[in-house]
Amino acid sequence: METILVLLHIDESGNLPRIAFEALGAACELRHGGNANFAIGIIGGDIESAAGKIGGCGATSFFGVSHPALEVSRYGTDLAALGALVEKVAPTLIVAPSTSRFARVLPGLAVRIGGQIDTHITSIDPGAEGDAVFAERWYYRQRMKAKFTRDARPWILVVDGGAFEPWKGETGSVALQMVSPWAEGGPGDNVTRTQVSGIETGESGTQTIRPDADLLFVAGAGWAKKQADGQTHVPKAEKLILGFLEGAKASLGSSKSLVDQSSEGQAVLTCLSHLNQVGQTGTTPRHQKGLATCCHGEEPHVVGWRFVQERRAVNLDANCGWARGKADVVYVADAFEVVEKLNDLLGV
Ligand SMILES: Cc1cc2nc3c(=O)[nH]c(=O)nc-3n(C[C@H](O)[C@H](O)[C@H](O)COP(=O)(O)OP(=O)(O)OC[C@H]3O[C@@H](n4cnc5c(N)ncnc54)[C@H](O)[C@@H]3O)c2cc1C
Repeated sequence: METILVLLHIDESGNLPRIAFEALGAACELRHGGNANFAIGIIGGDIESAAGKIGGCGATSFFGVSHPALEVSRYGTDLAALGALVEKVAPTLIVAPSTSRFARVLPGLAVRIGGQIDTHITSIDPGAEGDAVFAERWYYRQRMKAKFTRDARPWILVVDGGAFEPWKGETGSVALQMVSPWAEGGPGDNVTRTQVSGIETGESGTQTIRPDADLLFVAGAGWAKKQADGQTHVPKAEKLILGFLEGAKASLGSSKSLVDQSSEGQAVLTCLSHLNQVGQTGTTPRHQKGLATCCHGEEPHVVGWRFVQERRAVNLDANCGWARGKADVVYVADAFEVVEKLNDLLGV
């Protein structure tokens, strides 16, 4: 029988990030109706209340490493804390969320515990009890999917966000058993010599990339093209797009053609950078819904929409790529007018 350990950390606000609940949901799929040994391990500053939020998940035990040194993400302290949890539980399977904090430290953990690690897991097939566990992930820019298993244990499965049903259940007080990787005086200088002085975002302007948003709003090159009056209206486009993002709390994606325009010396939307680009050579976001505007819907772009469940598009061209089975609904309309109306309805 497998022994499952779910590794989690709290974020700066002291809460479990959304993806932590997805990792827990993924781990629950491995339990075969509750037969497996199933432990939770949480690291952070003050972790009591976060543990209570998942109190009803059915874990046989809850372990934690709580220390002021763990309020920040730092390889040395995180590795020591996670190593102590693994030593305590002796798991065969470890499930963890793919946060930037864990993405930095889990490969090191795998080496330290002599285990194997697979990242970007999008599906887990527990099989029947006693059967091999299979995992799935995508390769080659999300164009090929592999289903695989491993005999090696411990096996760390780092799950991607947006791919698993988040665990939802009762909160409740838990008997959190504290584990300490350090002697009485806390972590030594050898693990805390890296000082975390803060976090800087990669963007200087408005925060437009919101991975947790329900809606992905995608702007295509049409926003910067000449319109029916023979003129471009880039400042108006920018105002409409930013207004919509604010009103709908949506995340902003873009086609390659639009983000490339800055390097081609054309008038550009200043709210966009290459970080917004969706597609084969861009990102593959995992929002529930997507709305493409002034974007043709060409294959290299649509590759990035693979995980977006509900897709709609606004395009002047009834024969655009979206209309060929790539979107659920295509509104053949002027996106300037549509978004203006939407912003009115949203009160922005
Ligand atoms: C190797 C390779 C990799 C690539 N990778 C990517 C990638 O990762 N991501 C990506 O996006 N592209 C990628 N591309 C480019 C891709 O093939 C397309 O060229 C690009 O996606 C087109 O962008 P677009 O739809 O915004 O622009 P266009 O094709 O110029 O389409 C603009 C659209 O706007 C519409 N429009 C104009 N005005 C309005 C209006 N007022 N209202 C409504 N609609 C309007 C037009 O009808 C038109 O359909 C790649 C290409 C290659 C060769």
